Amino acid sequence: MADTIELEIVTPERVVIRDRADRIQIPGRNGYLGILPGHAPLITELAVGEIAYSSGGAYTRISVAWGFAEVLSDKVTILAETAERAEDIDLARAEAARARAQEHMMKAENAEAFEEASEALARAEARIEVAKGQLQ
Ligand code: ATP
Repeated sequence: MADTIELEIVTPERVVIRDRADRIQIPGRNGYLGILPGHAPLITELAVGEIAYSSGGAYTRISVAWGFAEVLSDKVTILAETAERAEDIDLARAEAARARAQEHMMKAENAEAFEEASEALARAEARIEVAKGQLQ
C-alpha cells in the first residue's frame, strides 16, 4: 500500500490544493474524519471547518465551507463552495465578517435571517481559527 494519499481541493473558482499527504483531517457533517492511505471508500458531506494535512513533516491548514468529500484508497477529492489556505486568509476581513454576523444574529427578525447570519458566523470563525493557527 502506498504511504501517501493524493489530495485535491477544488472550488467553483479554482484548484486550491493538489498535493500528496501522509494523513488528512476533514470536517464531515457528523464530525472530523481522519484519513490515512488505504482508507475505505466513502462520500461525505462537508461541514464548515478546517481541513488539515501533513506531508513529509509539513502541516497545511485550509478553511472550508460546505461541499462534498470523496475518499478513495489512494485519493481524496474535496469539492467545496469556498476554501482558503491559511496564508491566503485576510484575518481582518474575517474578523469584520464575524462582527457583522453577530450583529445580524442579534437583529434577525425571522429564523431564516438568523440561520443565514449563523452560517456566516461559522465561516468567519473557521477562517479566523485557521489563520490564527498559522500565526502561532
Ligand atoms: P465576507 O462577508 O467577508 O465576504 P463571506 O463568508 O460572506 O465573507 P463567502 O461568500 O464565503 O464570504 O466567500 C466569497 C469569496 O471570498 C470566496 O472566494 C472566499 O474564498 C473568499 N473569502 C471570504 N472571506 C475571506 C477571507 N477572510 N480571506 C480570504 N478570502 C475570503
